[in-house]
Order: sequence, then structure tokens, then C-alpha cells
Amino acid sequence: MVLPDRGRKGRESRIFGRNTPLGDPGARAPGTFARLLHRGHGPRLIGTRTAWTTICDGEFFCPGCGGDRNYQRRTGRRRFVFLGVPLLSRGDAGPVVECAACQDHFGVDALDHPTTVRLSAMLRDAVHTVVLAVLTSGGSTSRRALDAAVTTLRGAGFDDCTEERLAALIEALAADTGRIGDPDCVPGLAIELHEALGPLAPHLAPAGREALLLQGARIALADGPYTPAERDVLATAGCALTIDPDDVARLLVAATRTPR
Ligand SMILES: [Zn+2]
Repeated sequence: MVLPDRGRKGRESRIFGRNTPLGDPGARAPGTFARLLHRGHGPRLIGTRTAWTTICDGEFFCPGCGGDRNYQRRTGRRRFVFLGVPLLSRGDAGPVVECAACQDHFGVDALDHPTTVRLSAMLRDAVHTVVLAVLTSGGSTSRRALDAAVTTLRGAGFDDCTEERLAALIEALAADTGRIGDPDCVPGLAIELHEALGPLAPHLAPAGREALLLQGARIALADGPYTPAERDVLATAGCALTIDPDDVARLLVAATRTPR
């Protein structure tokens, strides 16, 4: 499907006139000749016209209007237009991502940012993974640690989480992997933590990454001081969250001093 140009926000670069962010870098201020040919809001007589072709569509977080929006990914063909007639090819344009709401164009790297719905799901998964990692690393699961974990998980959106369900899940994990109390569990846990936290970390502010680590730390502290296995798991979580090891150490100490 080839779509006609639209004039909004200079999405079509006019000769000697305004230019799109992705348009012709050689465009310059209007000259006399161009002003004569293109007066006010009349028909475009001379300039560069881009015909866009939609490649695919989907949903993305629009950095322009700030929300989850539909997008179309497009490539274009630029043509020099004289007296309204396309004459010369001026090469390809894009690919670009066009927001269906604000209709602005962005580079395709805009698709790297997750939607808010996806980000929320990633955050929930991350909390779940950190909580389970801490609980299963401890060698035994105390009532107080379970209490703290249920509170944290409910706060993250797991409304139906109960101590019984969590205990059953941990038992099932232990039966499946032999994880609890197993000194060789760390590589498996590290992989799970990196898988859950790694993709999320670039999209969280430092305070958000630290908050995730502190949630794990408070569960580890619920039944007493950190065990070596809990320290290992929390250090791994900090690494997956791209928190500096010195900051991880500082946060783990800070967690022992702050009320839960
Ligand atoms: Zn938008």
C-alpha cells in the first residue's frame, strides 16, 4: 500500500523549506524562487515528496505523545516534484515508525522500548523471580520469610498469592530441581535472575533497580541475618540489575537498618 504524503509537522520536506528529522539534510531556508512558486497554503508546486509503504504494524511506547500506541513501520521513496509532477528519484526514506496517535515519525529503535503493559509484566516477573530466588536459596523457608514474601508479591500485583501457595511452589521447585540447600544451585539461579532482570534493567531508573534488590534483601532478613547463599543470590540479582557491586554491598547493609 502506498500512502500519499501528509503535510503535518513537515513530514514532507519542501524545497528550500522545512525538513523532517529524517529528511533531506541539505534543505535550507526558503529562497525567492521557492516563495514565488509556493505561496501560503496553496498547492505544492516544487519540493520533495515521499511515498510511504507500510511494512508491518504493532504496538509501541510512543516517545512523542508518551503512551502505548499503535504504530506502522514504513519505508519511503523520495521524489523531487516540480509543478506538482514527480520528476526525479531522491532515494529511499526511513525505515521509520509512525505513531497512529500523534503521527510523528521515529527511528526503528523506538521499538526497543517496551510498552507500559509489557514493562509492568516484566517488573512483576522480576519481583517474582527475586523472591523465589531468595526463598529457595535459604536452605529452609521460615514462616516470617514467607510472610514477607507474600506481602511483597501482593504488592507487585500477585493478588491471589498466599503463604500456602507460595510454600507449595517452593516445595515443587525443590522437588523438581533439588535446589533448596544445594550448594550447586547458584548457576541455575544466576541464569534465571539474569533472564528475568537483564532485559528489564535498562528500562528502570537506578532507584527502581535498587528497590527490586531491596525487596529481596528484606525477605532474606525476615528470618535473621543474611546467609552466605542469600548474599550470593542478592549479589547475582544486583549484577543482573547492573548495580555496581559496591552499591549492592551498601544496599544490603542499608536494608538491615531500615524498618520493613
Ligand atoms: Zn505518538
